[in-house]
Amino acid sequence: MPSITRRNAVNVNVGGVIVGSGAPVVVQSMTNTDTADIESTVQQIAALARAGSEMVRITVNNDDAAKAVPYIIEGIQAKGWNTPIIGDFHYNGHQLLRKYPAMARALSKYRINPGNVSIGRKDDDNFRTMVECAVDNQKPVRIGVNWGSLDQALLTRMMDENSKSANPLDARDVMMEAMVVSALDNAAAAERYGLRRDQIVLSAKVSGVRDLVDVYTELAKRCDHALHLGLTEAGMGMKGIVASTAGLSPLLLSGIGDTIRVSLTPTPGGDRSEEVRCGQQILQSLGIRSFMPQVTSCPGCGRTTSTYFQELAERIQNYLVESMPEWKQAYPGVEELKLAVMGCIVNGPGESKHANIGISLPGTFEDPKAPVYIDGEFATTLKGDRIVEEFQVILDNYVQRRYGHSGGNGGGSHGAPSAGGPVNPNTIHADAVEDGTKKPVEPPIFAVIQ
Ligand code: SF4
Repeated sequence: MPSITRRNAVNVNVGGVIVGSGAPVVVQSMTNTDTADIESTVQQIAALARAGSEMVRITVNNDDAAKAVPYIIEGIQAKGWNTPIIGDFHYNGHQLLRKYPAMARALSKYRINPGNVSIGRKDDDNFRTMVECAVDNQKPVRIGVNWGSLDQALLTRMMDENSKSANPLDARDVMMEAMVVSALDNAAAAERYGLRRDQIVLSAKVSGVRDLVDVYTELAKRCDHALHLGLTEAGMGMKGIVASTAGLSPLLLSGIGDTIRVSLTPTPGGDRSEEVRCGQQILQSLGIRSFMPQVTSCPGCGRTTSTYFQELAERIQNYLVESMPEWKQAYPGVEELKLAVMGCIVNGPGESKHANIGISLPGTFEDPKAPVYIDGEFATTLKGDRIVEEFQVILDNYVQRRYGHSGGNGGGSHGAPSAGGPVNPNTIHADAVEDGTKKPVEPPIFAVIQ
């Protein structure tokens, strides 16, 4: 696969995780618990970290949330996670950071929204206060411009100037330019107030896919700051996933973006970790990083009239998701594994040969047997009612043989930090599990599909 040339971006150290062109693109996420609810927030951060979130942002919106932050960080560390925690500030961040120094020290990065930190003021004293707190504590910041809270004074001035221009731009283009200007002007101000260039990450989030591509393409041209990518308010379910993928992919393929967040609206009671898996899948589908084994499966057609083949594909996918937190510790490189689960022999053997392990299930009118290929070679034919169980044994044996200890290939080429490089919280805490004790890799349990 052709390599992607990353845009040159200054590396920023966020609590041991490097964000910049000298490191892999980092996947991050954000909690939706009440930060003041320490237990719930710790549980959700642990779940996000377990899913692979390499940094987690929490809102710090009031006194109770600010007081809770050090205890939250203690709580996740007690569970074995060293995931950097980022404080998300709006409106009153300047007050909270000064009033709660333990919170300011405990966080690994501050997110500042320049559009709402100094609302109604002619000066930028509040912004300056937040930057000075970052300087005092030697913390990096993200200057996060969002079109829903864009600096209205700046936008009004630029709209006025545009209307007087001989060749005025349309309002959408002025808005995009205002976002870029807001990010760059505030980054320059942060440097004047004492932050180093390698302590500043920028973002300019919008909710339209084309707008996202345009605003980041322009921002990327005009600075070398590390960039946080994300489609804001992406939406729910398939809409949010597709829109985020459509927006992030052209940028990432152009080498733009050093950390990503997928802002999915969860279903009520839904799994917040879905946004982590979505971000990982975007990067893996683009060939940028590998996070978990990939299953190639055909869509099925009239040759597969039962749901047998769909169930096998789904169960393998679920099994991989469940197994990866332990597998990635026990079997370095397993994230590069490729499986093929095909509905019949038309494309099955061909696709199977391109995978590490491939199986072609019998189509409706075919003999009830399923040829299995391993590393491109025909290995065996499974028959009868125990095809699923037997395929599972083949998968487990392959993983243990190929990736266990000496058989591993070193963890793949993208995700692992280099020796002496940034600390990857999901790598150093090899024993980390939610109850803080080492959990052995358990033999997989596969339901029998009859
Ligand atoms: S591999 Fe077979 S079952 Fe799957 S889509 Fe092709 S013809 Fe249909």
